[in-house]
Amino acid sequence: MSDTSAKDAAPRHITRLPHEVVERIAAGEVIERPASAVRELIDNALDAGATRIRVAMREGGMRLISVADDGIGIPADELELACQPHTTSKIAQISDLDHITTFGFRGEALASIAAMAELEMTSATDGGGMATTLILGPAKPPASSPAPRARGTTVTVRDLFQQVPARRALLRGPRAEAQRIQNVVRAYALAHPEVQFALTDDGYLLLQTSGNDLRAAIASIYGADVAAALLPLGPREVAGALIRGVVASRAFHYATREHVFIAVNGRPIANSSLFAAAEAGYRPLLRKGRHPLLVASLALDPSEIDANIHPAKTEMLLRQERTVAAALREAVHEALGSVPLSVPASTGLPSATHFTRPLQLRFPAQRTRRGLRIREPGIHYSGNAEDEALEEDAFQLPELTPLGQFDNTLILAQSPSNHLFLVDQHRAHERILYQELLKQRESFLGTDEPATGEPEPDAPTSPGQLLLEPLLVELTPTQAELLLPRLEELRALGFACQPFGGSMFLVRAVPHLPGMAGDPGAFARDFAEEAAEDSNHWLDHICTTIACRTAIRRGQPLTLAEQRTLLDDLRQTKTPMNCPHGSPLVLRYTRQALAKAFEW
Ligand code: ADP
Ligand code: MG
Repeated sequence: MSDTSAKDAAPRHITRLPHEVVERIAAGEVIERPASAVRELIDNALDAGATRIRVAMREGGMRLISVADDGIGIPADELELACQPHTTSKIAQISDLDHITTFGFRGEALASIAAMAELEMTSATDGGGMATTLILGPAKPPASSPAPRARGTTVTVRDLFQQVPARRALLRGPRAEAQRIQNVVRAYALAHPEVQFALTDDGYLLLQTSGNDLRAAIASIYGADVAAALLPLGPREVAGALIRGVVASRAFHYATREHVFIAVNGRPIANSSLFAAAEAGYRPLLRKGRHPLLVASLALDPSEIDANIHPAKTEMLLRQERTVAAALREAVHEALGSVPLSVPASTGLPSATHFTRPLQLRFPAQRTRRGLRIREPGIHYSGNAEDEALEEDAFQLPELTPLGQFDNTLILAQSPSNHLFLVDQHRAHERILYQELLKQRESFLGTDEPATGEPEPDAPTSPGQLLLEPLLVELTPTQAELLLPRLEELRALGFACQPFGGSMFLVRAVPHLPGMAGDPGAFARDFAEEAAEDSNHWLDHICTTIACRTAIRRGQPLTLAEQRTLLDDLRQTKTPMNCPHGSPLVLRYTRQALAKAFEW
């Protein structure tokens, strides 16, 4: 689908477009809102042949948009030129406008962004690790400096439209703008399933695709149920156009059209006639007012389309639009009509459940209060934060004998005085690991190591686990400032992290914990961000996160011996009643309560 990208083309130099080309280019506002900037930056990343694109936003993109790719990069001596109006490496003359094979061609996006926001570009053209950063803005002359970076480009846009209050006033709130950005990224992720996309909103992961195929992309965006109910759309060839894609079975239908995706040569478009055609194709088969989930990709010869009709490039002129639209309608009709309606076990997933934020850890500001309160006679709930009257020691965990597991989630156990205990295995392990981390830290800080001084990340005394390859993590300048004074503390936790110029850090070791599974490198980036949190509770939070990430999960079967170890370790912790997040982890049913309930 991205056969139109410049992936294999030899990189061309960036030049200024001749006057007559500029005049033929559809003029108008390129950047109307944060989502248009995201669209332009993704276009640039795809044109650069990226296989991985990471988009980050804050406050609906108004405070920050950042798009990082692993594409061909921009040569250091062309960075400044790239940010000037009408400079592009993609077309050179008027005749090129008739067969555009790239997503960009106007040479205007970066210049428009730089006129309305602070623009920071860091780019490297090879794997040597050396990049150049250029910062410029409406009131900021361009300034460049060397920076470390693997091949590719990171474009960061800060405070979009801050100098243009009239433009800001036209925007809807941050939530609505964030939703638009999410829609753009989703549409691109579906139009380019072979590219890995990730989108974060203020650090929350909203969307992530694996870069495999369309089915996998749909599974990660819409869930496995939808992916399992996909029907092939096409392939159908008409007037030199190849239509293909998928449509979800009729069991899945939505109240809006926002899950209908049409891309032409890899570019998500909003041509009303094509949307109408797709709709006409399913109309007799779906209730009025309901819309399907459909991903259609149209491949046409570049000479058959004109992308130069709309400044934001969201519309495209197809020379044979009616023929193509008719074929699309038939293809959709055929796909939906070819199978009987069968409702999957979990019936049509409401879109609301798909687009809520994935569960992530958030830390209540105060969660170290502990207590125990009796809510019902005989049943003791631990970890009640409201009741401070009872000291944490008021309820010591007795020595418990495990009886078995319930649902691979709870350990059932018996105390010497014959009470029944239910212990949440994940939370119990979290509590144990949390304590373990603090202990590690204390013993490290207690050694002869000077508390300050040059960190030596390789020093054998660090309790961490060395990464095979040190990982470069890029933070914002604010985050970097917060992180710097915390490096020694982090090292005590086994997290060896070294300043690497600018706001870059080199992570050499991550905490070593028994339960650690998965890619430690993937942890590293999250840890760095968390350690740079703007809060006094950062240390507590990072320990909680590490513990939560490495603790055994619910659903994991445990042998009796493992259950016993877990219960014994839990008993040794200072506060065995709640997990580090503050949630209860032990329930106790007294013998008396059971006797009463059963009327023994
Ligand atoms: P256009 O994409 O229309 O050429 P832009 O202003 O978006 O105009 O970008 C200007 C030039 O900067 C591009 O032609 C390209 O050479 C270079 N460029 C921009 N973004 C990237 C990127 N992510 N990777 C590589 N080159 C880029
Ligand atoms: Mg561009």
